[in-house]
Amino acid sequence: MSQYQKEKLQIVQTAQDLVHKGFLMATGGNLSIRVSGQNAFAITPSNYDYMKMTEDDVCILDLEMNVREGHLKPSVESGMHGIVYQVRKDVNAIIHTHQVYASALTLIKAPIPSLFDEQARFLGRSVDIIPYAPSGTGMLRNTIAKHIRNHNNAYLMQNHGALIFGHDMERAVHNVEILEKCALAYLLALLSERKVSKIPLAVREVAFAKLRKDQKKAAVGETVIGGE
Ligand code: 13P
Ligand code: ZN
Repeated sequence: MSQYQKEKLQIVQTAQDLVHKGFLMATGGNLSIRVSGQNAFAITPSNYDYMKMTEDDVCILDLEMNVREGHLKPSVESGMHGIVYQVRKDVNAIIHTHQVYASALTLIKAPIPSLFDEQARFLGRSVDIIPYAPSGTGMLRNTIAKHIRNHNNAYLMQNHGALIFGHDMERAVHNVEILEKCALAYLLALLSERKVSKIPLAVREVAFAKLRKDQKKAAVGETVIGGE
């Protein structure tokens, strides 16, 4: 049995859960989890049916992109996941989706300002647009590296999809769900052509400070309870 069995199982279960919830469609998107205490991560194989995927199909890569385990081609976005684990020590799980409402906002290059308390608490001060770069390229990886240093946990990739982080996989899934709710509510509000109100700045900062506290714990390997 692989020493990475726990991580591989979590990838399979989470991918299938995200398909059931409608956040992953066809073979679009990819997800990964950091192997704790090692410079390595488990990631979905490229262009592979999530509902057919088993633990043996999950790839294990180190942060230099060497394959440690896996018989399939790793996701084309492996470089993007790897750079996030290098730049953001607080991030232990990454989900990249083509979820529809968040993707719609990328088409009009509309970042999501701080609209809801739970958004500031778990996704950060805002959900920013990361400028377009073609899928699976070093250009995309480098663009991502430049934009993720502001401690937010969700980003909109122009004309592509969403990039979501968590200190663990369960949190990352919740963050995918929060993002889609915010994106849909924001799109509907924009459609009204009325002024969109934001939460008060002071409230946003208190919520964001809680997120930063969680992130600092996660970055040094402490367990994050992260409720309120
Ligand atoms: P992979 O199937 O290679 O992970 O690619 C899907 C994707 O979303 C590319 O951005
Ligand atoms: Zn994609």
